[in-house]
Amino acid sequence: MSKKYAIGIDLGGTNLRVALVSRDGRIIRKIKTPTSEEILDSIFKATGDLFSDNIEGIGLGIAGIVDRKSGRILISPNLHVVEKIDIVNEIKGKFRVPVFIENDANAAALGEKWVGTGKDFSNFVLFTLGTGIGGGIIYNNKLFNVSAEIGHMTINTHGEKCHCGNIGCLESFASARAILTKAVSILEKGRESLLREYCGGNFYKLTAEDIYKAALDGDSFARGLLRDAGKHLGIGIANIINLISPEAIILAGGLIGAWDIYVQEAIKEASRRAFKELFDMVKIIPSSLMDDAGIIGSAGLVFQV
Ligand SMILES: [Zn+2]
Repeated sequence: MSKKYAIGIDLGGTNLRVALVSRDGRIIRKIKTPTSEEILDSIFKATGDLFSDNIEGIGLGIAGIVDRKSGRILISPNLHVVEKIDIVNEIKGKFRVPVFIENDANAAALGEKWVGTGKDFSNFVLFTLGTGIGGGIIYNNKLFNVSAEIGHMTINTHGEKCHCGNIGCLESFASARAILTKAVSILEKGRESLLREYCGGNFYKLTAEDIYKAALDGDSFARGLLRDAGKHLGIGIANIINLISPEAIILAGGLIGAWDIYVQEAIKEASRRAFKELFDMVKIIPSSLMDDAGIIGSAGLVFQV
């Protein structure tokens, strides 16, 4: 008889999330801990805490380019340590159940398709908007097994060097890291802003939430930063609409907290740049699973949803 649960693991640059997930996509228990250098030990410990005879398998979502044949991570710009580990075989060896691996944003897209905002769409693209920008594509009701590195599409011939080594990437204009880097460099040049008070002069303490709060408090500098990032996000969205003509674009990640400035600007820019006929057909909507999409989707790999 098939077993009741799977374990879903979402390994990002900041947090490791591990969850026990039921066959119908419900989280039974979850564990969240900061990502450490001792990645395998942390995974073994959290997984061990949730493991039982009732586990069908383990699904793993990791930020980076996945080689699905070997089960290894070819490159992970924000988490280089995983490139050296034979992670699938290590976990298989320890727990003796099938282990599946996917890119973290792809896994999140699968989670949204299974039990989230994407449930009723056959074709959609998920953008994860956080420290970096990731993407996942659901095509004809299935996870499209491609890299979907949406954050690294070139949207400008100039710009800061991205973690991937390229310049002009969407991520280096529209991510939380990009917004904060730009904020700090301009504040250091003496720009007046409420943000100075928020961080007591230590600009490196600023967060994306601070920028949004300052924007809501009427700070024109903070508002300008979010609008500029949103405008670049809109270029990325327009490219995806013209390329894939999805039914929906689902937005997830911490930055969608700034929906009414950052995302609204993106929608406006995308409407200017995409084919009108395609833009009129797409719904641009928030994720319902948010941070849980990755662990749910990783478990979904096991159940082959
Ligand atoms: Zn890049």
